[in-house]
Formats: sequence, C-alpha cells, structure tokens
Amino acid sequence: MKLFLTPTTCIDTKTGFDLSIPLQNNDKNPTAWYVAAPEIEPVMENGWVGAVKLGGAVNFNNIRFNPHGHTTHTECLGHITEKVHSINQTLSTFFFTAKVITIIPEHIENNGVMDKIITAKQLKDAIGDTTVEALIVRTLPNVNKASAQYSGTNPCYFETIGAQVLIDLNIKHLLIDLPSVDREEDGGKLAFHHLFWQVPEDPNFERTISELLLIGDEVEDGEYILNLQVAAFENDAAPSRPVIFKIESI
Ligand SMILES: [Zn+2]
Repeated sequence: MKLFLTPTTCIDTKTGFDLSIPLQNNDKNPTAWYVAAPEIEPVMENGWVGAVKLGGAVNFNNIRFNPHGHTTHTECLGHITEKVHSINQTLSTFFFTAKVITIIPEHIENNGVMDKIITAKQLKDAIGDTTVEALIVRTLPNVNKASAQYSGTNPCYFETIGAQVLIDLNIKHLLIDLPSVDREEDGGKLAFHHLFWQVPEDPNFERTISELLLIGDEVEDGEYILNLQVAAFENDAAPSRPVIFKIESI
C-alpha cells in the first residue's frame, strides 16, 4: 500500500526495513553490560509440560531477558532518574521523520586507551541541514552486530556534546547500533544520557534513545519515515522494533 505524505511523496508500506535484532536463547544473542544469555524455557510445574515436543498441549515459555543488555530497545529518561519513568507512558506517537547516517568512529586516546568515538562534529556534518525528528546512526564497520558480545570491550560511544547538537536541531529520537551512547566504563556518569534528557535540571520526557539496532548494509543513508513501537512494558526501557520506510517521490 502506498501512503501519501504529500501530493508528491509517499511510502510503500510493503517495503519497510526492520532494524531490530531478534531475541534468542543461545550464544548468538548479543550481550552487553555483563548479563548472561537470555533464557527462553517452557513452564514445567506440577507435572504440567509447556512444550509440545515434550508431550504438552501447547508451547508456553517463560522468557528472561534484559532490554538494555540483550536486544533492540528504546528507553526514556527513566533510565537515569530515581523514579523509573515508563517508556510506555512517555512514547505516545509512533511515526517520525528520520534520517539514516553512517559514521566511521574516530579513534581518540583516553587515559592510555584508544576509544572509538562519534564526535559532535561528525554528527553535525552528517545531519547537514536536514530537519527530522529521529536520527538513526549506523557505525562502521557494520559487522557482527546481531551476535556481538560487548561486555568488557569498551565499545564505540558518542562525544557528550553530541547530545547538544541533537537538542539544537530538535531531534527527539536517537537510534544507534551500539549498546550505549556513553562509554562502557565512565564511573556512572552517563554524561550523554544526562545532557540529552536534561536530567536533573529540566527533565525531558519526550526524547528517547534506542540502542542495539541492526541496520543492514542494504539500507541506504537518507531520509525515511520511522515507525517506532515498544512492547507495552511499564519500565524505563522496553524491546522495540524500529521499521523505516524510504520516502518515494512520485
Ligand atoms: Zn539501554
């Protein structure tokens, strides 16, 4: 189905790119923040069997996972506030104008360690004069992201003042293919998160950050319509499925 945005532009609802990483209970599932692999196990209680292959009537699995550590997820300011504000309450619209950009992180020395950083200037240059509500950042090299074991690897992160670039451009939703916008070991500062959500000085309930996306090589840089939805969890973060649709000109 073609959905018209303007008399001369549309999206084709059949041609969306799903940017989420599937959750699975094996070693191939990505992990970050030192969590073990997710568990998907049938309920087995009082002789009841929650697996057809084991003689049960239905498959009935318990799933244990961590949104931040295991899968594509979207979070709100509740990630860093004493009160756990809910992404399910704060994300209330689901279609956004979006731009996909691709960035080669810079290697910058930090206390004797070479960090991989996306700088504010790189963000600014890649965004250009586009006006969009959501920014989707693909980092290079774009390999192994569906099964990466990030814990203890000092993954790529964003220069803190990059958050100000997004605020200044009125970009409300940042989506990245990394475990975090901040450095893995930063002494608990989460500086980018704080600046982006203006916590504690002027908390912003509208902005979201989505992490652990998988943006395939077939997705070209450019402008899209983003459909961003989360599972309805009352929690600071929930699994999400960002789907983008190329804007076509008629
Ligand atoms: Zn997170």
